[in-house]
Amino acid sequence: MTTGKEYVTAVFEKVKAQNSHEAEFLQAVEEVFDSLIPVFDKYPEYIEENILERLVEPERVLSFRVPWVDDRGQVQVNRGYRVQFSSAIGPYKGGLRFHPSVNQSIIKFLGFEQIFKNSLTGLPIGGGKGGSNFDPKGKSDNEVMRFTQSFMTELQKYIGPDIDVPAGDIGVGGREIGYLFGQYKRLNGYKNGVLTGKGLTYGGSLARTEATGYGAVYFAEQMLKARGEGFAGKTAVVSGSGNVAIYATEKLHALGAKVIAVSDSSGYVYDKEGINLETLKQLKEVERARIVKYTEHHPNAVFTPAGGDSIWTIKADLAFPCATQNELNAADAKALVANGVIAVTEGANMPSTLEAIEIFLEAGVSFGPAKAANAGGVAVSALEMAQNSQRTPWTFEEVDSKLYQIMKAIYTNSAAAAKEFGEEGNLVLGANIAGFLKVAQAMSAQGVV
Ligand code: NDP
Repeated sequence: MTTGKEYVTAVFEKVKAQNSHEAEFLQAVEEVFDSLIPVFDKYPEYIEENILERLVEPERVLSFRVPWVDDRGQVQVNRGYRVQFSSAIGPYKGGLRFHPSVNQSIIKFLGFEQIFKNSLTGLPIGGGKGGSNFDPKGKSDNEVMRFTQSFMTELQKYIGPDIDVPAGDIGVGGREIGYLFGQYKRLNGYKNGVLTGKGLTYGGSLARTEATGYGAVYFAEQMLKARGEGFAGKTAVVSGSGNVAIYATEKLHALGAKVIAVSDSSGYVYDKEGINLETLKQLKEVERARIVKYTEHHPNAVFTPAGGDSIWTIKADLAFPCATQNELNAADAKALVANGVIAVTEGANMPSTLEAIEIFLEAGVSFGPAKAANAGGVAVSALEMAQNSQRTPWTFEEVDSKLYQIMKAIYTNSAAAAKEFGEEGNLVLGANIAGFLKVAQAMSAQGVV
């Protein structure tokens, strides 16, 4: 009989051979596969049904041309993607990323992670992801609008409120979602459930903007509780200064912790008095300025440009990587551990390398993996879909309290799965297994599709 290890190894070898040029995708797959070995020992029927090989192959990968005209009248061309990874438990759901680094490997890694994350929320949503190598930085509002209209003109053929429901991610915030929604509506009529992260005047949900950052902090709260600790008096380092980082900072401050550093791709600021949230929001949400400008408002804060000492060399009790993939490597993990970090919570997707995760787990640091800790965003997106379907908006408090309960349940289920499969405290393993089991059961019930 094939063992779990033999099965997982054989499938991974195949995945590597077929996707050898997709480094980020293989990294995400390896992390999940490593966790699933004991599951296949316990449920050999999933080996017979070859669930893993089916799951790791996207149901559909779409790649398309996005031509648009810049402000000088010059025609530009970008590449658009949508990966519809798994609809085993619901319509494809996952964000759109606009960033020059976007390629098929990055969209596939994000889509693959999204399957398990969405399953963990307990809500009926499948996994997908999309985006483009378009860089919104330095573009005028009109250029962003023309690009997003062209992008949606193609994407609209493949999405719909019960088929595939995109949302935001890096480079796609309220402005971009507004333009995308407008173009979808122009081509298909008003269907408010086709996108989430919408503005509050046209079907958006209260607390969606805050959800990923708040949710990550709620998850961290559960990890701290399990160690007999709380936020009061703790210091935190948060990387990034976008949607996730800003609202993680806001909630950390509200719960009594002090965030002492934030960053963007140009560097980081360290403010030992605590990052001033009002300044941060003004610079990032209103002015779209670079983070160095923070020091003009707070002269005691120190700016370190990218390429200098990493943000993770700052001594703090808590770390929240909230910028991008692979932003925290083994050397960073060692520095954090040496400085006595007690909890690391991933607000971004796959921000820690596999080596960094090993270091945290071995050092007994509480480690909240992305697919569990940052699931709050997609969870509230699913709540936005529910409100759209019933045509009734909920209050901020209603949504926030549902978010809190969902994050608590994700922690409890991940911790329970880790314990059941013999690795108590390993939330990486626990989240992967808890997310996988529901999807596997659904796939098994639906036959070979
Ligand atoms: P934003 O675009 O709002 O902010 C991204 C932040 O990360 C910016 O400060 C940006 O700096 C920084 N950043 C991006 N790429 C890099 C890079 N290559 N190197 C260094 N810094 C970088 O995105 P979000 O806050 O929405 O997303 C952040 C992370 O959270 C992503 O991994 C995303 O997938 C994940 N996430 C987001 C969710 C959401 O609801 N928004 C939900 C779940 C996960 P700069 O401006 O200089 O580029």
